[in-house]
Amino acid sequence: MTHAELWERHKAVMPDWLALYYEEPIEIVQGSGRRVTDGHGTTYLDFFAGILTNAIGYDIAEISDAVREQLATGIAHTSTVYLIRKQIELAEQIAQLSGIPNAKVFFTNSGTEANEAALMLATQRRRSNQVLAMRNSYHGRGFGTVAITGNRGWSASSLSPVNVQYVQGAYRYRSPFRDLPDADYIKVCVDDLRNVIETTTAGDVACLIAEPIQGVGGFSSGPDGLYAAFKEVLDEYGILFISDEVQTGWGRTGDHFWGIQAHDMVPDAMTFAKGLGNGFAIGGVVSTPELMDSLSANSLSTFGGNPISTSAAKATLDYLLDHDLQANAAKRGSQLVDGLRGISEEFLELGDVRGKGLMLAAEIVKPDDNSPDPAATAKLQQETKNRGLLVGKGGLYGNVLRMAPPMTLTEEETTEALEIIRDSFNTLR
Ligand code: PMP
Repeated sequence: MTHAELWERHKAVMPDWLALYYEEPIEIVQGSGRRVTDGHGTTYLDFFAGILTNAIGYDIAEISDAVREQLATGIAHTSTVYLIRKQIELAEQIAQLSGIPNAKVFFTNSGTEANEAALMLATQRRRSNQVLAMRNSYHGRGFGTVAITGNRGWSASSLSPVNVQYVQGAYRYRSPFRDLPDADYIKVCVDDLRNVIETTTAGDVACLIAEPIQGVGGFSSGPDGLYAAFKEVLDEYGILFISDEVQTGWGRTGDHFWGIQAHDMVPDAMTFAKGLGNGFAIGGVVSTPELMDSLSANSLSTFGGNPISTSAAKATLDYLLDHDLQANAAKRGSQLVDGLRGISEEFLELGDVRGKGLMLAAEIVKPDDNSPDPAATAKLQQETKNRGLLVGKGGLYGNVLRMAPPMTLTEEETTEALEIIRDSFNTLR
């Protein structure tokens, strides 16, 4: 079958809204380290790591061995109604890393399911379907998670099982208050949060959910400390804070293991997924025993926390801790950010360089008025691909290039990527 035939068959059998990257979509057939190879034999440096699924890279022997060892028992999975050794060990490790006292963990297969479970826990606890979410957020593709996704382009349904109000502050670059000093910016947002609670809800709000750095929203955030200030207000009203760590967890942000730790606070619950399995499907919620034990009916995911995915996840977590990949993310992240800032001095189209560690974004603008330039962004994404570099695209206006390479990234690979990015910007002239 030719590549063109494959694409035609994709279009015939998959829904139109399953959008693919690039003028001619690629089929990735092999991976090694930080590189992937497509069906034509072209190799790319992967700065999007399969949309963060391959958080530490491709073809890592320790992970493959752990999976093979599990498969050698003849069992990929039976059911989560039985004891699963790897699941228990992984839960203990995540509970300990969470910083939440006596934490408990519930496993799912994806980030969507993790956030749905967190929403269920929080809303049942308060017997209220009122929740708060951030503008420009993304939390998944379930019925509840679509509703708390504050981004029109991803809000596939206007019908909602939750009553949601959106709070501002997480997309500072396009906030009317962006030039205020951090403390004043935080104060404006906290006042707004209080106003939203007091004037737009009935008061019995179950939770606020936020991504420490918004992923799909273009790696945007407010200043560090914003969510600690939010938590103080939320505590006054008995509203839980849920940190969606699906993109920011496991040390990717470099300065901390969980994104929310940059705000110097401990959330009531965290949700995680994606990178933990390094390609194997896993997600989950970690929270206090009070919240986790609060459901009165059984709640079971048939596949969540199965032996094969928890073997992969345990091996991934051990690898990233043993190799201190958080420190590497910080080091390579600062090399990348310095390089991108240099490019932004040369090219006014690069309006904002932001993010942390190996979660970095470039917001592309029209230089005359800094308005979003999605066409130039699409061109840059295509040009980087033509030169052997895969980057992501995102943001409310589709004008942000997102870079989230595997956390094992080397200095040479970072230099190589920066050269490709600079060359690609040159094509805008
Ligand atoms: N939360 C965040 C912050 C995400 O970025 C995503 C996926 N892009 C999800 C939740 C949903 O995860 P999944 O695709 O595994 O359902």
